[in-house]
Amino acid sequence: MDFALNEEQKMLVATVRRFIDEELRPLEDEVEQQGFLDPDKARAIHEKSRALGLYATNMPVQFGGGGLGAVDTMLLEEQFGHTTDILIRRAFGNVYEVLLAARGEQVGRWLEPAVRGERVCSIAITEAGAGSDAGGITTRAVKTADGWRLSGSKHFISDGEISDFFVVSALTGAADDKDGKKKISLFLVDKGLPGFTLGKDQKMMGLRGTSHLELWFDNVPLEPIALLGDEGKGLQQALGVLGRVRLAQVGARAVGKASHVLTLMVDYAAQRKQFGKPIADFQLVQQMLADSVIDINAARLMVLHAAWMIDQGLDARDWISMVKVQAAEALGRVTDRAVQVFGGMGYCKELPIERYYRDARIYRIFDGTSEIHRTVVARSLMRHGASLFDITA
Ligand SMILES: Cc1cc2nc3c(=O)[nH]c(=O)nc-3n(C[C@H](O)[C@H](O)[C@H](O)COP(=O)(O)OP(=O)(O)OC[C@H]3O[C@@H](n4cnc5c(N)ncnc54)[C@H](O)[C@@H]3O)c2cc1C
Repeated sequence: MDFALNEEQKMLVATVRRFIDEELRPLEDEVEQQGFLDPDKARAIHEKSRALGLYATNMPVQFGGGGLGAVDTMLLEEQFGHTTDILIRRAFGNVYEVLLAARGEQVGRWLEPAVRGERVCSIAITEAGAGSDAGGITTRAVKTADGWRLSGSKHFISDGEISDFFVVSALTGAADDKDGKKKISLFLVDKGLPGFTLGKDQKMMGLRGTSHLELWFDNVPLEPIALLGDEGKGLQQALGVLGRVRLAQVGARAVGKASHVLTLMVDYAAQRKQFGKPIADFQLVQQMLADSVIDINAARLMVLHAAWMIDQGLDARDWISMVKVQAAEALGRVTDRAVQVFGGMGYCKELPIERYYRDARIYRIFDGTSEIHRTVVARSLMRHGASLFDITA
């Protein structure tokens, strides 16, 4: 077991850290106040990041990405977590690996432009009536002589406002098929198609600057080429790659966010004086700092271990469920303690601590709630025994 970062990894991490401090951090307050990121500034950070080779680093080199393995991706994603969701999206890209199912003409039309950041893509699975139960969707695509017709709706679709196209899950089993309800396929759906309308931007507690849209499909015509991957295998396909996305965008970023907050807590505890001494001298405050660094490192090591499993070609899906719960909940505990250590200033909008606290809350909900991932872990324990999660076994 070697946890030492090599020179290349250290350089990558330092480059991202510097980029965030110099280019992104100065934009955070502005986005928070305005509620959006100025499009010119978005373009500028995208161009600078691409020039440094920091855009779509998770995607294979052959499609224009950085070609990083899972461990290297997590090291970068942890750093991305030091800034906000919208700035990560515009600077580094949220290019979903599900697009790697693209074949033939799909590569030049959807995959490569997404990797270059010329076309933004969102994933649209959740519906008002189907959240945790992703198989319970009612959006349906019906085969026609010249392709498909898509009808239904989605909601909470992150970055929907900016996205140029969407990977949409839809039922494709025949309506009278006994098993039809479970046959789900994925489609590449361009914005602007007839019958495709954007609904309202659903305002959230945090994540200012990122839109979360309703999408409405009314008999939208799709070409045959819009089908991504195998017909009827969409859910398996999506779940097959979402694990790595989840590890990166939730697990590693949660660790990064919590680390950033801990740095602020430690500095504040050292300089804030009460009763004639720094509050860091009080053991009850020290406990909050110590518990936070313990939480963060437990999650960090779990993220790196699951990433190592992926790089070894091992099945890490159940591990990722475990990591997702640990990292999301560690972030929640750390940001809660941060508000406490900062006292009234932690609750006050003059400092970003209250924002970190709000932004952290979604980590326990999106990409599968803590309850769903605990259920996955428990089922896996019952099926395979505790040794499945024992690296010494
Ligand atoms: C900010 C934000 C961004 C999002 N971005 C996207 C996106 O880009 N694309 C997309 O497709 N979706 C997106 N989502 C949707 C997100 O993944 C879902 O909100 C999430 O999966 C939970 O579904 P739900 O909200 O319908 O909650 P529900 O499924 O209704 O769950 C409600 C409660 O019931 C519990 N529960 C449900 N089933 C079980 C069970 N079997 N056992 C125990 N407890 C259970 C849940 O844990 C939760 O506590 C986003 C959501 C938000 C809020």
